Amino acid sequence: MRLLLVEDNRRLGTLVGDGLRESGYAVDWVTTIDEALAVLETTRIDLVLLDLGLPDGDGIDLIRRLRAAKKMTPVLILTARSGLNDRIAGLDSGADDFLVKPFAIEELSARCRALLRRPDRGLQPLLTLGNVVLNPVERTVSVGEDLQEFRRKEVDLLEVLLRRAGHVVPRPVLEDSMYGMNEDVSSNALEAVVSRLRRHLKQSGATVEIRTIHGVGYSISKQPILP
Ligand code: CA
Repeated sequence: MRLLLVEDNRRLGTLVGDGLRESGYAVDWVTTIDEALAVLETTRIDLVLLDLGLPDGDGIDLIRRLRAAKKMTPVLILTARSGLNDRIAGLDSGADDFLVKPFAIEELSARCRALLRRPDRGLQPLLTLGNVVLNPVERTVSVGEDLQEFRRKEVDLLEVLLRRAGHVVPRPVLEDSMYGMNEDVSSNALEAVVSRLRRHLKQSGATVEIRTIHGVGYSISKQPILP
């Protein structure tokens, strides 16, 4: 799950970003409406956390522009404005929830989970290849009949590969979808996750294989059936 945090207060941005990463989300953090729009144009974001007082305008305008463009990405407003009128204006503009600063990171995390669980997200189909089934909403993987305990990054990687099964997925695309843009990624982090995932798939008897295309990326496909 990938969250976009739009917050111009450095201290708060760092705090909230770190807290949510610890809860297992990939977090992109920007400080202006313009940057937020740029990210939303190019990246699949599951939830936007939005401050209202931003250097280049009011967060409410960002929501209006999103909704006008028929983008239904859920938005949670984070603001010090606690007045009833502010709440109503926020929700009227198309925000999904409202959290008043200061808040506990646990509460924020709980609100995020609730928004990400909304029923319309349940329409995302299961991803299946061979005997492997990944549920993109529940973040679960099963092989044959058995539910597997995969680590979060392994599930992230498997999801991107399965969405393009049979095609080579370039390294930067994989890294981009697995790590938030403010996360430091060491050069061999991806390899480490790939080898863990391969081992895990093999041990669980999966009938798929991940191939390395040197200098380019990785692809997943069904294992050829041996005679
Ligand atoms: Ca602000």
